[in-house]
Amino acid sequence: MTTANNANSTSNSVNTLARQLVQDIVPYASARSSMSGGAVWLNANENALAPAYQLDDCFNRYPSCQPKAVIDAYAAYAGLTPEQVLVSRGADEGIELLIRSFCEPKQDSITICPPTYGMYAISAESNQTAVTKVLLKDSERLDLPGIFATKPKLVFICSPNNPTGDLIPREDIIAVLEHFTDKALVVVDEAYIEFAPTASVVPLLSRYPHLVVLRTLSKAFGLAGLRCGFTLASADIINALKKMIAPYPIAEPVAQIAAQALSAKGIAQMQQSVAIINQLRNDFSTFVSQLPGIVKIWPSNANYVLLQVSNAADCVQALIGEGILIRNQSSQLGLTEVVRVSIGNPDEMQRLQQAMLTYFSMNKRASA
Ligand SMILES: *Cc1c(COP(=O)(O)O)cnc(C)c1O
Repeated sequence: MTTANNANSTSNSVNTLARQLVQDIVPYASARSSMSGGAVWLNANENALAPAYQLDDCFNRYPSCQPKAVIDAYAAYAGLTPEQVLVSRGADEGIELLIRSFCEPKQDSITICPPTYGMYAISAESNQTAVTKVLLKDSERLDLPGIFATKPKLVFICSPNNPTGDLIPREDIIAVLEHFTDKALVVVDEAYIEFAPTASVVPLLSRYPHLVVLRTLSKAFGLAGLRCGFTLASADIINALKKMIAPYPIAEPVAQIAAQALSAKGIAQMQQSVAIINQLRNDFSTFVSQLPGIVKIWPSNANYVLLQVSNAADCVQALIGEGILIRNQSSQLGLTEVVRVSIGNPDEMQRLQQAMLTYFSMNKRASA
C-alpha cells in the first residue's frame, strides 16, 4: 500500500516536470490499446492471411539506416529509383518525419480532410503544428475551394481513405498539386493502395516534385507487427527526411523480413491475399446490404467497410459479447453512428456475419 502511494507521488511530480505540451496531450487510443480480450480481431484493418518468414540467427551488428536490399526491392516494386524511396518504422514515422522536417513549430500548419486517418493531426500536435480541417464533400470528393483557402506546408490526402474506403478522384488530387506548386507538399497516403492498385498516384511523381506518397507493409502485405513503411518522393524531399530520421530506425530482423515480403514470391503472395480479401469484402458488403437496420454502406476500395447503424456503441458492444472486435468511428468529424469492420479470414467473416444477423434481426423486432 505504502509503496504504491510512494510510486504514485513520484509519478505525479514527473508529470508536472514534463513539457506543458506533453502534459496536455491525450494519448492516442490505438486499435490495440483500446481493446482487451476477444478472439476475432476485425478492428485494425490487419491482414489475417499472413505468410511466415526466415531470419538469420546473429544480430551483433548495428543495422543499416536505409537497408539497400529493402530500398531496392521497394523501388522496383513501385517503379521508382532508390533515391526516391525512404524506409521508416511504419508509414506513421513517415508522417511524423514529414511534419518535423517541413513544419516550423508554432508557425506552420498542415491541411487534412476529415473524416480521415488520425495520425496526421496527432503528429502535428506533438510538433506544435496547427491542423486546418477541410471536410470531404459527400465523403469522397475534396472541397477544392476550401483547401485552396488554406496556407499549409503539407496537405494530407488519404486514398483509399481510412475510414470511408473511398478513392479520392485523381483529378481532385491533380488540382491540389497544381494549386500548391512551389507552396506546399501534397502527401497522398496510399496505405491501402494494393487493394485498388490502378488508382495509385505514383505515376504523377515524375510530373510533380512536391508530391509525396506514403506506403506500408502493414495492410495488404500482412505485416502490421513489423513496423515498416515507405515514403516515395523526389530525391530532394527524401534527402531532407534522411536528415531527421534516427540513425538506426529499421531493426535488422525487420529489414530481413521486409526484403522477403518484397521478393517476387512475397509480392505474389500479397496479391493472392488481396484477391481473397477483395472477394470477402464484396461478399460482406452484399450480406450487410440485405440486413435490416443498416443505414448506409460506404463502397470500399480497401480491406474494411464503413457502416452507418442506428447505435454504433451498442452494435460494437453486442459484437464484443460474441468475441468479435470492430471499431466505432463515430467520433470522426463528419460521421455519426458509424462502425468500421476490417475484413478477416473466411472463418472470422462467417462468425461475424452470424453475429450481425442475430443482432440486427433482434434490433428490428425491438424497434418494430
Ligand atoms: C494503417 C495506416 C497507416 C500506418 O501504417 P503503418 O505503416 O502501420 O504505420 C497510415 N495511413 C493509413 C491511412 C493507415 O490506415
